[in-house]
Amino acid sequence: MHPDPLANWEQLVSAAPSPLQELDWELAQQHGLRIVVKRDDQLRLEAFPGDQAFGGNKWRKLKYNLLAAREQGYRQLLTFGGAYSNHLAATASAGYLFGLATHGIVRGEPNWPLNPTLAHCQRCGMTLEYWDRQRFRTKDQPKVVAGLKARFAEAYVLPEGGTNALALLGCAELAGELHQQGTIDYLILACGTGGTLAGLVAPTAGWAQLLGVAVLKGNFLQQAVTDLLAPDRYPHWQVLNSYHAGGYAKCPPAVAAALARAAALGLPLEPIYTAKTWLGLEDLVQKNFFRSGSTIALIHTGGLQGYRASLG
Ligand SMILES: *Cc1c(COP(=O)(O)O)cnc(C)c1O
Repeated sequence: MHPDPLANWEQLVSAAPSPLQELDWELAQQHGLRIVVKRDDQLRLEAFPGDQAFGGNKWRKLKYNLLAAREQGYRQLLTFGGAYSNHLAATASAGYLFGLATHGIVRGEPNWPLNPTLAHCQRCGMTLEYWDRQRFRTKDQPKVVAGLKARFAEAYVLPEGGTNALALLGCAELAGELHQQGTIDYLILACGTGGTLAGLVAPTAGWAQLLGVAVLKGNFLQQAVTDLLAPDRYPHWQVLNSYHAGGYAKCPPAVAAALARAAALGLPLEPIYTAKTWLGLEDLVQKNFFRSGSTIALIHTGGLQGYRASLG
């Protein structure tokens, strides 16, 4: 299968809004709540049959960056990530789909055979360069950035995790779609860097409360989102720090069980991001956090890439 970049660029700018799924969930009904799922995971383009990497919030975050790269004449993308990074996988898929060469700087030592995420990156044609943890931490220092710019002069540079101003712009579109799709009182979503949450803040002002579920440990997210918003004039968003279940890429039994309960309601999730969001949603419903009569939209940010791949 050969990619058709022209058709893919066209898709990128004209894709239909991702669908809303209505959940038939007894617990929510008992609390007088309606739960809908914004299926951003279904907003995707496949580099290969079954590929899930360029989809979900990674589509949202990459969209305007890809358009900017094209407009500015870049032929390549360069980015950074850990060996299980959905952002790295999405960038690799994007390169394949849109006809851009891709380079990935990977945190840590190489391991063979490559894990499914890195195998996917390689299959998409991404070159992989490994930086040990100490060196990786220097990647944003001006001297290191200048060195990379010289080595990869034709590359548009995306930060680790893909969060920048253009990423926020793409995520803002999600809020606009949702507003058109019905009355929503709360949005709940998974957060890594907080870029997706930050992008949703301005366009939901006045009509929804935002709840960001931190999947990483460390209580840094409140500050990270505040910095992204600078100045933060908004009272309608908050970060939930108690559902990370041990941290990134941890899947303890509680997360596996949440995943199974959601699957039983017809909702496919993955353990790293979206199952933790589900865990948070269940807990808040049980604690009567939400006003009775409200509609809550769970944002399915995608991520099935890593999960499906790890199942083989
Ligand atoms: C990358 C990712 C996130 C985190 O997005 P941020 O903008 O970094 O907060 C959430 N969910 C899924 C499925 C992801 O792949």
